[in-house]
Amino acid sequence: MRVVQLGTGTPELAVVAAIHGDEPCGVRAVERLIEEEPSVKRPVKLVVANEEALERSVRYVDEDLNRAFPGHPEAETHEGRLAHELGAELEGCLTFSMHSTQSHADPFAIVDELSETTRDLCPQLPVTALVETGPFAGGRLFSGADAVEVECGLQGSDAAAENADRLTRAFLTAVGALPGDTVRRDLPVYQLVDRIDKAAADTYEVFVDNFERVEEGAAFAAADGEKQVASEGFYPVLLSPYGYRNVFGYTARKLETLTASTVAE
Ligand SMILES: [Zn+2]
Repeated sequence: MRVVQLGTGTPELAVVAAIHGDEPCGVRAVERLIEEEPSVKRPVKLVVANEEALERSVRYVDEDLNRAFPGHPEAETHEGRLAHELGAELEGCLTFSMHSTQSHADPFAIVDELSETTRDLCPQLPVTALVETGPFAGGRLFSGADAVEVECGLQGSDAAAENADRLTRAFLTAVGALPGDTVRRDLPVYQLVDRIDKAAADTYEVFVDNFERVEEGAAFAAADGEKQVASEGFYPVLLSPYGYRNVFGYTARKLETLTASTVAE
């Protein structure tokens, strides 16, 4: 794990890249900040988390780090120990962590549950949606303070790396570490409802777009040509044919829209 601090004092802010080693977008954003060393009004911890997995261009070495929190110093897996170490490093820091997906090109944010802080922060990020994981937060990044994860775009794409850079700067501006103003936008909020299981098969297809409502009775995916039909209407989130081994993604419901005008009050 690489940790570099911008500014002086005890950081209450952290930017984290490479929770997953095969998602390089955030690493480029963090490395750029380390090189540029901008003067900050609040100290910030910059973290490249799973360097071992990053070096091998794999998601993880032993287990998914984002399912391994809180971890343990004597855990049997590399990620189990790293989760503990990273958790200690992030203790009390409002944490911004970058990911990329195989499911959706437009950036969106993920929180376990909206708080006053994230309710104010997220509409200032260049994202098109906000997802609450609710009961599906198990094992995800934990800092003892609010954590916002952002999906920057498609894994390995230049667009995702550029988005990571823009998102990081917007985060640091919104929290007052970098000077300037952010743009507030209307932000729809979705809450995960259920996993969409994926049967063992050779080929998978997905017929719908993430965050676009699927109506009851519509076929939204297939395994070896066998169609899966919606038993009730839902919004697909993190849905992709090959992104995860055992699930297509998640069903979600739309909770509310955080509006630019109300949050600006
Ligand atoms: Zn990830």
